[in-house]
Amino acid sequence: MQLQFESYEEGFGGELKCPSCGFNYLHHQKVEVFERGEDEDKGLHVTVENGVAKTDTNLSGNPSARRHGLLIHFSCEGCEANPVLSLSQHKGSTWVDLN
Ligand SMILES: [Zn+2]
Repeated sequence: MQLQFESYEEGFGGELKCPSCGFNYLHHQKVEVFERGEDEDKGLHVTVENGVAKTDTNLSGNPSARRHGLLIHFSCEGCEANPVLSLSQHKGSTWVDLN
């Protein structure tokens, strides 16, 4: 789904909109970081949620098939959606998506 923003303000950035209802009140619930060397099967997976940080080597949720990735899980105040913002490195590029 294409990223949509409410507006852009210098120094703050753009307000991310819910891909389901278009509301701009999205709350961070969980953050996941995936780190690994290029094409490595194992790496570091850090999850931060509810005041607790956990680490393991499970890269199964990594949005990048080959390198680093980042997931931010949201809840929407305007509907029941739980969209996930992803950043993934693919070759030399960084991709951003919201699903
Ligand atoms: Zn929504």
